[in-house]
Amino acid sequence: MATSVNGFSKLTKEEKIAWLASHHFKNKGTGIEILKQYWNSDIKLQRLHDEFIENTISNFYLPLGIAPNFLINGKYHTIPMAIEESSVVAAAGNAAKFWQKRGGFKTEILGTEKVGQVHFLYPGDTDKLNRFFEQVKPKLFEATQEITENMKKRNGGITSIILSDKTEDLKHYFQLHCTFETRDAMGANFINSCLETIAKTFEFEIRNSDAFNPDEKEIQIVMSILSNYVPNCRVRASVSCNVDELNADKGMDPLDFAQKFVRAVDIANIEPHRAVTHNKGIMNGIDAVVLATGNDFRAIEAGAHAYAAKDGRYKSLSQASIKDGVFTFSLELPLALGTVGGLTNLHPLVKLSLEILEKPSAEELMQIVATAGLAQNFAAIRSLITEGIQKGHMKMHLLNILNHLGATPEQKKYFTSYFKNKTVSHNEVIAQFNALKEKDDAQVPK
Ligand code: NAD
Repeated sequence: MATSVNGFSKLTKEEKIAWLASHHFKNKGTGIEILKQYWNSDIKLQRLHDEFIENTISNFYLPLGIAPNFLINGKYHTIPMAIEESSVVAAAGNAAKFWQKRGGFKTEILGTEKVGQVHFLYPGDTDKLNRFFEQVKPKLFEATQEITENMKKRNGGITSIILSDKTEDLKHYFQLHCTFETRDAMGANFINSCLETIAKTFEFEIRNSDAFNPDEKEIQIVMSILSNYVPNCRVRASVSCNVDELNADKGMDPLDFAQKFVRAVDIANIEPHRAVTHNKGIMNGIDAVVLATGNDFRAIEAGAHAYAAKDGRYKSLSQASIKDGVFTFSLELPLALGTVGGLTNLHPLVKLSLEILEKPSAEELMQIVATAGLAQNFAAIRSLITEGIQKGHMKMHLLNILNHLGATPEQKKYFTSYFKNKTVSHNEVIAQFNALKEKDDAQVPK
């Protein structure tokens, strides 16, 4: 049973596991065995993973899959995806194959600007603050010189600092709204370091200025932190072909397919319940590549959903249209990604994933990730408007059900073939599995 514990982080790994086992595991031996089963036999490698976070007790596996055949701007890419959901990699691979015969994916970077803010309270005259800010601004840049020196050599750094008056929304609330270029880094640590220095300098300058009265000098820096909402760090991915090339779905006229597809996206644009699931499908592709490349999927998720709601209503991140007989499907979203920093140079599988992607720059990775999202969305909508999502999904889920039932490799082979042209449902798999078991049991000589 859960109970309070003091100094848990100071215990050794073995002690942490022993505490956990005695408080939480019904069968201590089995619980400990499972945790240790997932330890890496290479002690150095395990230590590396242990040190990623606090209180590590084991490793948590996700499958790393490969989706090949992605033709992006005329160049082939093999995309690594880390994800547990059965049908995602298969769907990405199918969409890649579909579009490689129809011109492939086109992508473009629409911006790379990152954002960070110093949030502070100032209980004084706004005009005075504005005038003071313009005077002190060069000092704010100067103060960060040491931190930004190397980034400037890469053509990055702080690109602007703006004083923003938010007092209409919250009493005395102002911001220093800063923008950054962080090149191949996601930039969180770089931005936060810059912001904290800017905040300290700003506070010091106000407190030591003759322009303010004692009350006005009492500014309060509430916090200095990057924003994961980066609408100007954005990428676009698209596919297009003549409507009559959309002939891959037997039994559906290409124009009917294209029109139904556009209608499905239109629905996601005006109906938030559908939009959330629609965008979740996009994030299936996006998160899988983001994770495989060691990027921060929480940051990406938060930013993408905020962007989906930028017009005051939560909408589809993708758009579809038919114009002059040409079908176009596109996705636009903010993606602050890094190919240096964070886990990228540490996690051996992340390094390998980046090698599979031929060591992309952050901008190249943005384009690859957006493509994976668009491919996933195409595959999902295509299934939804034709055979339904469950057919393909349950086919992939079949192995999970069989594994749950403890099927042998022979049984898995038998059922994969048995369900090839049949509808997979949880109940039907169990019924067929039990029937086969009964038949096999009956054949065992008593
Ligand atoms: P990082 O701290 O590892 O720094 C990357 C550094 O690499 C740069 O600052 C730069 O000095 C160096 N560098 C070398 N070559 C470069 C190149 N070509 N382009 C740019 N920089 C180059 O990583 P980071 O990107 O500052 O931060 C990312 C990490 O911060 C992630 O792990 C993320 O999870 C974490 N984080 C996120 C948040 C958030 O999203 N809210 C907050 C805090 C921390």
